[in-house]
Amino acid sequence: MIKPDFAKVRISCAKPNCDHGGRVQRHHKGHEKLFLRAFKDRKESKTYKIMLRRYEQFRPDDTVPLCPDHHAEIHYEYRDIIALFQAQQGMHRRDFSWDAALTLMAELRYHCDEWLKEESSGMDPALVFQVLPQRIHNED
Ligand SMILES: [Zn+2]
Ligand SMILES: [Zn+2]
Repeated sequence: MIKPDFAKVRISCAKPNCDHGGRVQRHHKGHEKLFLRAFKDRKESKTYKIMLRRYEQFRPDDTVPLCPDHHAEIHYEYRDIIALFQAQQGMHRRDFSWDAALTLMAELRYHCDEWLKEESSGMDPALVFQVLPQRIHNED
């Protein structure tokens, strides 16, 4: 799998009619990094290794290019979905079963695909990252 070379190919934010500037970031729709972090004690398991390998491949199916403002906005929306799901499970995500983790990742992916269909204003990354527990990196 070849990673897209953003230096050679001009790629713009995937949100309709986006007029924000800034360097495009590669967003993983399922936010797999959430569980790559939370499941650190499962690093040696086959499922973890498969998820990590796939994450590192940046498959076109799994990722979408977003400007910093839209990237911040989708992660802000994920925050509520993650919190609600954890409340329903009655535990922190680090204690989830793999099935529960995969279900949440599928929900996030679905939400992202729906969100991608509509215009939205985006959010200031500096404000969003003040309320997120973890800073979001360019490839999260
Ligand atoms: Zn992201
Ligand atoms: Zn954008």
